[in-house]
This record gives sequence, C-alpha cells and structure tokens, in this order.
Amino acid sequence: MARGMIPRQPAKTGRHEGARRELKPSAPPRAYKTPPLAKPANHPSKPKAGLLGTPAKGRAPKTKGGAPRASKYDPLAPERLREILKRLDERYPKATCALHHKSAWELLVATILSAQCTDVRVNMVTPVLFQKYPTVQHFAALKPEELEPDIRSTGFFRNKSKSVVGAARMLVSDFGGEVPNDMEKLLSLPGVARKTANVVLGTWFHNPTGVVVDTHVTRISHRLELTRQENAEKIEQDLMRIVPRERWIDFSHQVIWHGRQLCMARSPKCAECPLENLCHAADKTWSTVEIHKGATP
Ligand code: SF4
Repeated sequence: MARGMIPRQPAKTGRHEGARRELKPSAPPRAYKTPPLAKPANHPSKPKAGLLGTPAKGRAPKTKGGAPRASKYDPLAPERLREILKRLDERYPKATCALHHKSAWELLVATILSAQCTDVRVNMVTPVLFQKYPTVQHFAALKPEELEPDIRSTGFFRNKSKSVVGAARMLVSDFGGEVPNDMEKLLSLPGVARKTANVVLGTWFHNPTGVVVDTHVTRISHRLELTRQENAEKIEQDLMRIVPRERWIDFSHQVIWHGRQLCMARSPKCAECPLENLCHAADKTWSTVEIHKGATP
C-alpha cells in the first residue's frame, strides 16, 4: 500500500461512502401456496354443498351486509354421515371378516388369536390347529401349556392359551359346547371382550349387537371426527349412536378394510380415498379441504 494511504473504513452512519445503491422496497412476504397436486382419476372434484362447511346452494345464510356466511361445520351432521356410509358401501360392497373359519367356535378362537397379530398370521396358524383339535371338547381337555407351542407365532401365546382353553371349558360346562348368540354370555367367557364378541355375533350370527372397535376403527373414527373418545367402549357407544343399527356389522368390516387398504396408520392414501373431501384429518397426505388440527388418530 502506498504511503499515506489510509484504508477506507465503514462510515459510522452505516452507509458506505460512495455506495450509491438503489434501495428497493423489500418484497412482500410470499403467501404459502400448497404445491399443485395431480387430481386422481375418478376423484370427486367438487365438495358437495352442505357437507363440508360450505352452505348448500340456494340456502346460504347471509350476514347483515348480505354476504353469504359459511355454515358451521358439524362432523356428525346426518347428511355427512349418510355420505360416509354410502361411499364406504360403494368402495367395499363385499367387506367381511378376513379370519378364516367354519364355525362360531373357530371364529371365536381366531378372533382371540388375532389380538396384536395380523389376520394373515392367524390364518396360517388356525388350519393346523383345528386339524389337531377338531372340536371345542378337544380344546377343553387340554392344559393351556399344551396349546402354547401351536399358537406361539401369534404372540402373547401364554395368555391366549389360557383364554382359548378357558373359553372351551366354560362352553362345554355351561353352554352345552355351543357358542352362545348372546353378548352377555359371550362376555362371561375368559379372554372375550366386546370386540371379540361383536366379531362373533356380527359375522357368524348376523346379530348387530354393537360395532367392532379395533385399531383401524379407532384411528379412522378419530380422523373422520366421529368420536373424541379414546376408550374402545366409549368409541363404540359413540358409533352406535350415529350409525344406524342395520349398518353396524357392515360398517365395522368396511372401516377395517378401509384401514388396511387406504387409511393406514402411516401415510394414508388420501389421493385415492373416496372419503377425501369429507375428511379433515390432521395427518392427511393430500387434501382438497381444510385440515382440522384436532382430527388426529
Ligand atoms: S382422506 Fe386420508 S385420512 Fe381421510 S379417511 Fe381417507 S385415507 Fe384416511
């Protein structure tokens, strides 16, 4: 550096001497825009009026100034529930229990074994099991430990062995070896709670006594805002209040199928879902309607 030259210092005012920058107004904050998503084929493109908090045509309530006011969203509105049931019917017309069985007893055993286990696994275990022990009397004659190796792969096999053998013994001693078509009697059997009883009563006896509440029904009922309850029995009570009795059996199977095929716990396939524009779940993967933070599984 030549002698006598002093390097330029930044001005104390914060402006660099000689810097003639044109000051541009800062850009306004960009509005958040959801990236456009391809519309799936056959997707209902327009929400149906009146179902999603949008006022029905010709009946829009007005504000004082005359502007239309959106009606309050009601997740339990009868027309919304009717639409959910209709679309489930259309998508899953033949939904039924996935557990293989040839009798009420086989279905009861399969349902007990299906706790915390997949139906596929249970369907692998039960054919061998029922070949080895063909009747309820065969099971009643066992000690629980003797059954354990045959059902080990379904998990929780010690408790399940006690339940199956205990239920078999009680059926033989109190019910003439027959599975009763009665909720209270079924609930008196060891290891049988309302979910198992509802599966047997609905699927085998076609007796709508309640709604099956398993992990799928719990998750989807929360996502669809059909209940806020966490306890299975309370969820069932809520569903029994809003779903017509004649639909309880089909509704249970359809929701379970929906949970397996589209509305999985992780990454539900919302873009393919027939309920998409009726669903405001917080964890949707694709949405045409507003999201409700409280609608969580
Ligand atoms: S839109 Fe998504 S979250 Fe809602 S019911 Fe369908 S799959 Fe489940």
